[in-house]
Amino acid sequence: MKRVCNFSAGPATLPEAVLQQAADEMLDWHGSGMSVMEMSHRGKEFTDIITTAESDLRELMDIPDQYKVLFLQGGASLQFSMVPLNLTRPGESADYINTGSWSKKAIAEAERYCSVNIAGSSADDNFTWIPTQEQLQLNADAAYCHITTNNTIFGTEYHELPDTGEVPLVADMSSNILSRPIDVSRFGLIYAGAQKNIGPSGLTVVIVREDLIGSAREATPRMLDYKTHADAGSCYNTPPTYGIYMAGLVFKHLLKLGGLKAVENLNRRKAAKLYTAIDENEFYNSPVRRQDRSTMNVPFTLAKPELDKTFLEKAESKGLVNLKGHRSVGGMRASIYNAMPEEGIDALIEFMKEFSERYA
Ligand SMILES: *Cc1c(COP(=O)(O)O)cnc(C)c1O
Repeated sequence: MKRVCNFSAGPATLPEAVLQQAADEMLDWHGSGMSVMEMSHRGKEFTDIITTAESDLRELMDIPDQYKVLFLQGGASLQFSMVPLNLTRPGESADYINTGSWSKKAIAEAERYCSVNIAGSSADDNFTWIPTQEQLQLNADAAYCHITTNNTIFGTEYHELPDTGEVPLVADMSSNILSRPIDVSRFGLIYAGAQKNIGPSGLTVVIVREDLIGSAREATPRMLDYKTHADAGSCYNTPPTYGIYMAGLVFKHLLKLGGLKAVENLNRRKAAKLYTAIDENEFYNSPVRRQDRSTMNVPFTLAKPELDKTFLEKAESKGLVNLKGHRSVGGMRASIYNAMPEEGIDALIEFMKEFSERYA
């Protein structure tokens, strides 16, 4: 067996220790004689798994008691609809800050249900920056203000949250949840598809303040009402049981590493190394404004774009895979989520150096 350094944006690399544990427990979970995949979601074994996963996530993120944790399906993309369906009344307006492709999709979906005020946008320079507080046109009467805390495609990240006053802040945190400590009480609602920093695809984590639950629009399908899932402990219907189990293993793993402060330190060190390698070498360029750079997704271009294909081929032959940038940015993108080991970054940096020496 030989594992590669997988720089995929998502689904993405998972901690090897977690995969190993899942493999060890595959056929017989804790003496139950069953795989987690084969268990009733109402049985005592799975109840233990989901309860532990929730309490470990609460501990990791220091989630206040007045927030519910929901384990849902439909990806972050279904939250683009669930958020306006649950949080706006007919005739109300919501603020959205447009920082890239995922924000745009969230906006397009919200516009089907409510009026949308684009409170800020970095569209003018191909989303290479994050609007500052002074640049925002916030509506004090908005039902909520939606941001994308990390822009997976463009490689920007909020390093300071906007101040929205009494207006609940709603965040798509799909690609940087659990990458560092955050103050959950600053948010009305947080959501994240699992497949970047949490676990396998098929699971969506929603953290929502209780007062925002229970006023969904009349015609909201029961399955899209947060109250349905909050009242049923995420087991109204069959939840994505194996995904929840895997997420639970990841939460335990992060707690064992020392929690999110320790994770943040490691992430900062990894990202700093890679950005330095890009900045110090004329052959490579980061298109993102320095203070807005993401610690999770690092896009970069080559001085000779005609060499992109060669770069990818040579990288792959060294076991460095999935480095191709998104078509809307071009060049390369290294996604370096929590589970990317520092050795993976070192190997990439070494390869980039060799490549530029040979081809510059
Ligand atoms: C990946 C991603 C999504 C889409 O997630 P799905 O689970 O595929 O719907 C949405 N927002 C952000 C920021 C993402 O990185």
